[in-house]
Amino acid sequence: MSNQWIVGVDLGGTTTKLAFITMDGEIVYKWEISTDNSNEGQFITSNIEKAINEKLNDLGQTKAKLLGIGMGAPGPVDYETGTILNAVNLGWKDNFPLKESLEASTSLKAAVENDANCAALGEMWKGAGNGAKDLVCVTLGTGVGGGVIANGNIIQGINGAAGEIGHITVIPFDGAPCNCGKTGCLETVASATGIVRLAMGELKKAESTGELRALLVKNGKVTAKDVFDTARNGDELAQQVLNEVSFHLGFVTANIANTLNPEKIVLGGGVSKAGDILLDSVKEYFAKFAFSAVRKSTQLALATLGNDAGVLGAAWLIKNKLNQ
Ligand SMILES: [Zn+2]
Repeated sequence: MSNQWIVGVDLGGTTTKLAFITMDGEIVYKWEISTDNSNEGQFITSNIEKAINEKLNDLGQTKAKLLGIGMGAPGPVDYETGTILNAVNLGWKDNFPLKESLEASTSLKAAVENDANCAALGEMWKGAGNGAKDLVCVTLGTGVGGGVIANGNIIQGINGAAGEIGHITVIPFDGAPCNCGKTGCLETVASATGIVRLAMGELKKAESTGELRALLVKNGKVTAKDVFDTARNGDELAQQVLNEVSFHLGFVTANIANTLNPEKIVLGGGVSKAGDILLDSVKEYFAKFAFSAVRKSTQLALATLGNDAGVLGAAWLIKNKLNQ
């Protein structure tokens, strides 16, 4: 049994990441397929089955090599029933029985969880969490996701919607509209799109010169990466945007830490590739807003797994099931 593999799947609206992973969390093989969400998403799980069989064949293995399949999916998931409550990007109707569909397609034991929660579990298992049992993960990508792990388990909430850190309100009045339908969510100021929006707002306001404005003139737009790169080079306007983003992240993570006192709060996702310039700045505000006993014990850290966090966390779901 110990030399068997688990299939880890990170399902996205356009791309599905797959990996064969050992019980120790080593990735044996990883690859991607495009997500076909046509016809109300009816091909998604059968395409995954096809991809797995092809890859097993390529590697000279059979289905017997596989222990089960874990999947992270976008949207709130009821872990017990394996139902995805709402998956607009995938074509599935509300309350889609994902676990059931996956088990029927693959004839493997399946487990499904929200994708941001899987990323948190991955970081707990093999990444920045380094085995920490109390961990909060904030994924800063196109949107902002969150996962809260307490005593080794994901906090689900009554409706699978716990840990939605991206939708904590940070601008209570007149905030920008969020994808969730509210306004002023953390996602509107700390996601890649939110950072660009803040930067464009500043660029419109002031007749400043500087590297960020030069990039806007040259490229007709700026990216979140441009903001961090030019801030690192001393661009004042970019530093102002960085400061605003860091304030909100420091404020939110400190208050989460004041509530949960986790061992670590991990910042992941594409935006976290900004590295220390972001982390150090968030840490300053975190220290300002965290309660003293929390400030001394809860650490802020950058995620270390990158794109692999999701498939690893998905595989962990199966490993954890087998251990129960
Ligand atoms: Zn929101």
